[in-house]
Amino acid sequence: MSLFLHGTVDEIEQIAERMRRIRITGPELCDLAWVPGMHIRLRVGDPRSPRSWLHGLLRTYSIWDYSPTGHLDLCILDHSSAGPGAQWSRRVRVGDPAAFTTPEGRLVLREDAPYHLFTGDETAAVAFGAILRALPPSAIVHGAISAEGPGDRLPLKRADRLTWTYRPAHLVEAVRALELPDAPGIAYLAGEARNCQAVRDHLVHERGWSRRAVVVKPFWAPGRRGMD
Ligand SMILES: Cc1cc2nc3c(=O)[nH]c(=O)nc-3n(C[C@H](O)[C@H](O)[C@H](O)COP(=O)(O)OP(=O)(O)OC[C@H]3O[C@@H](n4cnc5c(N)ncnc54)[C@H](O)[C@@H]3O)c2cc1C
Repeated sequence: MSLFLHGTVDEIEQIAERMRRIRITGPELCDLAWVPGMHIRLRVGDPRSPRSWLHGLLRTYSIWDYSPTGHLDLCILDHSSAGPGAQWSRRVRVGDPAAFTTPEGRLVLREDAPYHLFTGDETAAVAFGAILRALPPSAIVHGAISAEGPGDRLPLKRADRLTWTYRPAHLVEAVRALELPDAPGIAYLAGEARNCQAVRDHLVHERGWSRRAVVVKPFWAPGRRGMD
């Protein structure tokens, strides 16, 4: 049995200035076990390069949205050091085949939290988007998200509860400035690795949160390729 699910690229939309939403459709995508926040590993090798097929080049992407009728949406950032993942998002066209692993991951909605704190960058906002959409209207939300500029903002639910901060401002400063309840909630931290570390240190050492209340998933780090 193949390790990969197969589908076809069905829609491509420029959802933000540097971010493409790419929909993959197909019968193999029906009724997957998916929890908001999960990711897949996508085959991004160039089909014209035998070497990349040989090495099965993969990059990891959060699922922005999923329908059990047979499609899922990814949002891929076209960052300035574009490696195979960002390059795939540039060259892919409607009708192209796509292969990827089944959804997985621990950066997922924790339903029983007293409140939910989202912090990360524009790549993290993809997983956050899925989690925010799944929260009941009564859920209490806080958040600080960093981006290169306003054009990188993704359309997120509960946007009035989220502060966007633009680099070079530091994400941890935006989190420090948030007025949070005294008792911890659950924090979802993702995106650039050093920011994840800085925000975790702030929550644990300055606000006294237990590590268990902080779900951390670094998505990328400067100079590292295909982190996962
Ligand atoms: C669980 C998980 C979920 C993820 N979800 C998403 C997602 O939904 N959308 C998304 O776009 N990415 C997501 N990522 C990051 C993604 O997997 C790749 O790391 C990213 O697309 C870069 O791949 P690349 O092949 O273009 O560059 P690589 O070959 O991996 O890296 C080349 C260079 O680019 C730099 N770089 C990588 N990412 C960025 C960035 N964001 N900004 C600036 N420089 C960067 C690297 O440090 C490296 O120096 C996720 C990662 C993980 C682990």
